[in-house]
Amino acid sequence: MNNPTGFLEIDREDRHYRPVSERLKSWREFVEPLPEGTVARQAQRCMDCGVPFCHSACPVNNLIPDWNDLVTSGDWQAALDRLHATNNFPEFTGRVCPAPCEAACTLNLEDRPVTIKTIECEIADRGFREGWVTPRLASKGTGRRIAIVGSGPAGLACAQQLARLGHNATVFEKTNRIGGLLRYGIPDFKLEKSLIDRRVAQMEREGVLFRTNVDVGHDLPLDRLLDDYELVVLAVGAERPRDLDVPGRDLPGIHFAMDYLAQQNRRVAGDAEEAAAPSGTISATGKHVVVIGGGDTGSDCIGTANRQGAASVTQLEIMPQPPERENKALTWPLWPLRLRTSSSQEEGCERDFSVLTNEFFGNGQVEGLRCARARWDGGRLQEVEGSHFEIKADLVLLGMGFTGTAFPFEAAGLDTERGAIAADAVRFATSRPRVLACGDARRGQSLVVWAIREGRDCAAAVHEALAQA
Ligand SMILES: Cc1cc2nc3c(=O)[nH]c(=O)nc-3n(C[C@H](O)[C@H](O)[C@H](O)COP(=O)(O)OP(=O)(O)OC[C@H]3O[C@@H](n4cnc5c(N)ncnc54)[C@H](O)[C@@H]3O)c2cc1C
Ligand code: SF4
Repeated sequence: MNNPTGFLEIDREDRHYRPVSERLKSWREFVEPLPEGTVARQAQRCMDCGVPFCHSACPVNNLIPDWNDLVTSGDWQAALDRLHATNNFPEFTGRVCPAPCEAACTLNLEDRPVTIKTIECEIADRGFREGWVTPRLASKGTGRRIAIVGSGPAGLACAQQLARLGHNATVFEKTNRIGGLLRYGIPDFKLEKSLIDRRVAQMEREGVLFRTNVDVGHDLPLDRLLDDYELVVLAVGAERPRDLDVPGRDLPGIHFAMDYLAQQNRRVAGDAEEAAAPSGTISATGKHVVVIGGGDTGSDCIGTANRQGAASVTQLEIMPQPPERENKALTWPLWPLRLRTSSSQEEGCERDFSVLTNEFFGNGQVEGLRCARARWDGGRLQEVEGSHFEIKADLVLLGMGFTGTAFPFEAAGLDTERGAIAADAVRFATSRPRVLACGDARRGQSLVVWAIREGRDCAAAVHEALAQA
């Protein structure tokens, strides 16, 4: 540890965002990287605690104090190696991870955690700028053939690990581009897609084969894959959206968030948009938009609607408004429930909490919502009597989470558990021999960093299974 008193001498400083007026005119990322010297100074704030809570709070167990120390001493390339030792794609997590590591940082007891995510992002970005990120070729091939279905962060991490172990990894993806929700869920203004392309290029040079436009279970039966490959890994995500089954749901103008978001990402990429939303073009331009659901997906809808020039954006959440500040004595080092304002919410939106949507109304097109206040009574959701109100809406986006995998698991003879493909977290074995599952498909809707962790662990399980076969 280079500066044992850094945390006393140096104030926390984090990346800034470009002004709202500027960023709303663009689909590009708007987070301004800190100058390299400032990042190195921020790394000096790490106390290298005896028990690094950040390390265990990070789902991939990033070796955070180690790379903070290396950055402090100016050895960025060694820091990149330490980072890649646990995380295949730190340039993704450095942009979109909610950073549970920072919640667990000892300095967060005083609300001034080390800027871990920013340091991670700079190590990764610098690695690419300097040309340090090169293919890591296996010393020899094993000739063992593995199919990975799904090219989100779980499938990609799994395939990369397998290729580096010398196995022949082929990724099958039903859409026209690689990346899963990194590509078609998360908007470009949070994660530019060229970042995925350069990783895919690295993986291709490491020997991973990519087959796009192949819908396994529909175009290509799972049994056929099992004829051609020794093992099949299902990393097919949790794509089934939660619906809101209330009167008026079938009115035109009410869409699932993912139909809307994927369409805009396709537009930015210059691809045909109809593949994402069979119901035609969905646009927020000039419209009063209501987003139902308060999570990441909802926020992405807000940022997209504001960039499209919505007349207004309102976000409804069924849960009560959480406290502005958590009680650290009760929550630290765990992830606390507290009111957070995303960059998209900051760009302009009305937020309302404890709202039940009872009905959509309109004449041939959605015109509004009939709502009521919600309260939790003995763990049950109740409607507050006499609390009815209406909200005007020309476009409603449903971002209320996902209920599980959309893979045709029954036809494929796979057991499920709470909507996800049933598989354990050690062998990743499903109910079908030679078929494994990982990522959101196995654990349910989660985070990019968890998908990377699952992909890595599943690759280790595949390697072990091959050794025993
Ligand atoms: C809108 C949105 C925003 C999000 N924002 C964040 C964020 O900011 N930070 C964060 O950490 N997490 C975020 N998440 C969650 C995160 O994106 C997911 O947890 C993560 O992508 C899961 O990775 P995965 O590889 O398991 O699945 P996915 O990324 O869903 O990838 C699954 C892939 O499998 C493909 N596939 C499915 N079925 C088949 C089939 N039958 N044949 C072939 N291919 C198939 C799909 O097309 C897809 O490409 C967000 C999620 C959404 C929906
Ligand atoms: S991946 Fe997420 S939790 Fe882990 S160090 Fe990076 S920002 Fe923190």
